[in-house]
Amino acid sequence: MIYAIIGLGVAGVTAAKIIRQLDPKGEIHIFSDEPTLYYPRPKLFEVIREEIKARDLYFYDSMWYEERDIKLHLGVKIRKIDPKEHLLYLDMGGSVAYDKLLIANGASSFVPPIDGVYTEGVFTLRNLNDAFKIRRHSFLIGNGKPTAVIGGGVLGLEAAYSFLKNKLKPVVVEGAPYLLPRQLDEEGSKILKGILMSWGIGVLENAKVERIEGNTNVEKVVLADGTVVPAEMVLLSTGIRPNTSLLELSKLPFNRGAIVDSYMQVSEDIFAAGDIAEFNGTIYGIIPPAIEQATIAATNMVKDRSLEYKGSVPSNTLKVVGLDLTSVGLVNPKEDGYEVIRASDESSHKYRKIVLKDNKVVGIIILGIKEANIANKLVNKKVDVTQYKDKLGDINFSLKDIIA
Ligand SMILES: Cc1cc2nc3c(=O)[nH]c(=O)nc-3n(C[C@H](O)[C@H](O)[C@H](O)COP(=O)(O)OP(=O)(O)OC[C@H]3O[C@@H](n4cnc5c(N)ncnc54)[C@H](O)[C@@H]3O)c2cc1C
Repeated sequence: MIYAIIGLGVAGVTAAKIIRQLDPKGEIHIFSDEPTLYYPRPKLFEVIREEIKARDLYFYDSMWYEERDIKLHLGVKIRKIDPKEHLLYLDMGGSVAYDKLLIANGASSFVPPIDGVYTEGVFTLRNLNDAFKIRRHSFLIGNGKPTAVIGGGVLGLEAAYSFLKNKLKPVVVEGAPYLLPRQLDEEGSKILKGILMSWGIGVLENAKVERIEGNTNVEKVVLADGTVVPAEMVLLSTGIRPNTSLLELSKLPFNRGAIVDSYMQVSEDIFAAGDIAEFNGTIYGIIPPAIEQATIAATNMVKDRSLEYKGSVPSNTLKVVGLDLTSVGLVNPKEDGYEVIRASDESSHKYRKIVLKDNKVVGIIILGIKEANIANKLVNKKVDVTQYKDKLGDINFSLKDIIA
């Protein structure tokens, strides 16, 4: 059996590991257009801050792949799939055969259609090459220089923090009324903004970018209301787009991403997982679902239709030193039937929001409290907290006291 995997991100590497566990003899080939071994993308911030050595970047060394007889084809881009003939066409020319295929080719940074996005000094961050370019530019422009991060999501805030650590002066420009609109609510976001501003990170909300200007290098971001934000470096952190051109060329079904069924299957002998996969209209864009999906896809590639995917609970933790922020599950319910219990202490920048459905925990936001693990556990297990309800409104009550 020949297993082929397109993409050496977390989905690709996880799938290879599982396939090898289940099929000790099959051939496993991974094709990646990046020239490097697998590295977790959150480490890119450490690259920008020059806090990591190359050898600590890679999750597994080359021996790990050799020992498992996983054949890597690095710097090799797959241009097109021929599902009928079970062939992969390489960008460099030629083709290779497969029996079972996993498409795990991920996503790219979205570049919004704003005037000036291609000015020198304007970047996106998705891969190691981007991180090196950003790091070089951030040291080139020098200490104290103004920078702008367009997009106040998790990645944007982590980038702004990295710029601050590199002795730059970052401003986050967010179009929504408050930061982290998907993971926080207005109250939590206000506390977060206070913390970031106290560190020296500027925050502009409700800020619609009209254009980016500069001659040899970027100089400013101009907002729709005429506000001018000086910036000698700009990071566009405005979401992702799954890499669907491969699917389009190969005439495989896709919407925003590759449409998969509950077996993570796209069509006969073709599976998808990670940021490229769209399950029930959702593209998660984060690591834990990519691992779950890849595990299920890989298992089904070896043992036909043996595992079913039911969707993942989204969970985000901001990895900024000195700031504990986790958002897990359904934190801003739009429908009736949910109960929300809030607790806060503005002076110590602490905030907690718990969303219950029938007394069971379905979503949690915690800010300024070290409870990420227990929060994930409570939501994932939908723990019934009836007996603790009178205590949940007290910020000093620890969620760790709930028996999960
Ligand atoms: C800076 C940064 C920080 C992040 N931090 C977090 C975090 O803290 N927590 C979290 O949960 N998520 C985080 N994410 C998101 C997370 O990294 C993604 O969800 C994850 O990488 C998805 O994995 P994947 O394997 O689906 O795709 P990718 O990681 O995108 O990997 C796909 C690979 O396929 C390659 N490829 C694409 N097309 C082809 C082709 N035609 N032929 C060959 N190879 C191809 C790509 O170059 C890439 O190497 C972060 C992302 C970034 C950019």
